[in-house]
Amino acid sequence: MSTNTENVLQNHLTTAHAGVGAIMPDSTEVPTSAVTSSLVEALRSGMRGPVILPEDPAYDAARRVWNAMIDKRPGAIARCTGAADVMHAVRSAREAGVTLSVRGGGHNIAGNALCDGGLTIDLSEMRTVHIDPKTRRAHVSPGALLADLDHEAQAFGLATPVGINSTTGVAGLTLGGGFGWLTRRFGLTIDNLVAADLVTADGRWLRAAEDEHADLFWALRGGGGNFGVVTRFEFALHPVGPEVLSGLVVYPFHQALQVLAKYSESIPQMPDELSVWAVLRKAPPLPFLPPSTHGREVVIFAVIYSLASDNGMREIQAVREWGQPIGEHVGRAPYSVWQQAFDPLLTAGARNYWKSHNFTGLSDGVIQTIVDFGGRLPSDQCEIFVGQLGGAASRVAADATAYPHRDASLVMNVHARWDRASQDQDCIGWARAFFEAAKPYATGGVYSNFMTADEPERTGAAYGANYERLAAIKRRYDPDNFFRGNWNIRPARDGAVPGGR
Ligand SMILES: Cc1cc2nc3c(=O)[nH]c(=O)nc-3n(C[C@H](O)[C@H](O)[C@H](O)COP(=O)(O)OP(=O)(O)OC[C@H]3O[C@@H](n4cnc5c(N)ncnc54)[C@H](O)[C@@H]3O)c2cc1C
Repeated sequence: MSTNTENVLQNHLTTAHAGVGAIMPDSTEVPTSAVTSSLVEALRSGMRGPVILPEDPAYDAARRVWNAMIDKRPGAIARCTGAADVMHAVRSAREAGVTLSVRGGGHNIAGNALCDGGLTIDLSEMRTVHIDPKTRRAHVSPGALLADLDHEAQAFGLATPVGINSTTGVAGLTLGGGFGWLTRRFGLTIDNLVAADLVTADGRWLRAAEDEHADLFWALRGGGGNFGVVTRFEFALHPVGPEVLSGLVVYPFHQALQVLAKYSESIPQMPDELSVWAVLRKAPPLPFLPPSTHGREVVIFAVIYSLASDNGMREIQAVREWGQPIGEHVGRAPYSVWQQAFDPLLTAGARNYWKSHNFTGLSDGVIQTIVDFGGRLPSDQCEIFVGQLGGAASRVAADATAYPHRDASLVMNVHARWDRASQDQDCIGWARAFFEAAKPYATGGVYSNFMTADEPERTGAAYGANYERLAAIKRRYDPDNFFRGNWNIRPARDGAVPGGR
């Protein structure tokens, strides 16, 4: 078998989606080859940013991503400084027929930002954020982190919903959907996307918006990195803060069944401006918790009430009455500080393995399963996160954007996290067993941004009923499946766009 054929086959093995059936090389896809010196020369001749090679001192830092389980070695890393570099890198890679990956903030748990042997288009230096306070718009470069966006927008008392760890990249988060503390009030990140500039597989630069390449704009809102390299995002902003009522209410583990049941009962009555996430983990040494509880299993409710209204304290009071808390830290704090509250628990460099389910509610059975596995966390850093969606996010039709999971009011992320390779088996085994035990209660859908590297068979479940339309749009903009270092959507074989505009 030739190296090219092997590469193509390998790619299919790692990107096959559910429902495709037998995994076969697809003759419509361009074969891939390794990075050559002539490609490096071509890249350097037309880029302002550096091209980093394996022999360069900067290489190891440049190929490092958030999850220390990922150890991929690109043949070259093209660190772009702007759209011109991206266009040049895409065209050069296309001409050379090389494997490609695209890196934004480098947080993707599966390590899709990198590839082995091919070219990584690295956008991490493109972090500019420009706010227009008059039109309430943010123009965000593709290497910007959530903290960059929050910092600039909050200077004008503005924000848009993003994730809960401020070192996450805006780009990958947005292309998968994006949710966080403001989602119940203002929708997913993609519901606030107004336009995106991108470089498509043929090296063209396009603007996608409701009135321009509307099919592509639909696909970008949940279809991941399948359609091109986004070089600029434009978001709608909303007045938020600068202070919000937020904090943690912590319960002892022996009350877990009771407080999770109360949480579940309360969800349908919660206003959109309130968001409550549940976290089961071993208690960090927080100063407001009794020292005897440090390192012991607890249930933490992370709460935010984002309106400046007296109702906030009343809403949060209800959370305090679900049981007898062992400690709490709730008060008014700058929104950008709350956006970073979980950063110390989610630093880069640990080993991580995730499993995720979507739920429409928490039945007694799933609560029992959560408490069962929450009581046997295999490391001090492992967590079970139950993030709350619903509200504005659920009032958008499932086919209005490529992200299909509008029915999911809760997303559970089984977050196994540890430091030593010797713990791999225990931690991964725990996450997988938990995932299987919780499966009967889940919707079957999955958020693409929470998928781990060994889950390609869930790709169909990630795009759900929108897959067919995505495949048709993929055929229009990337018929050779050039952008396939992602949760891959295969180009449809005929050109009709189901439900297309
Ligand atoms: C600690 C932590 C907390 C998280 N919390 C949340 C959360 O609260 N809410 C939430 O919604 N998600 C959350 N996530 C998931 C997050 O959305 C994904 O990890 C996302 O992929 C991160 O984007 P990135 O740009 O940092 O990733 P990268 O690894 O750089 O990129 C991921 C993929 O996105 C694509 N991509 C990136 N940039 C571009 C671009 N400019 N053009 C085209 N394709 C591109 C590529 O396919 C790439 O492989 C969290 C992740 C972590 C690690």
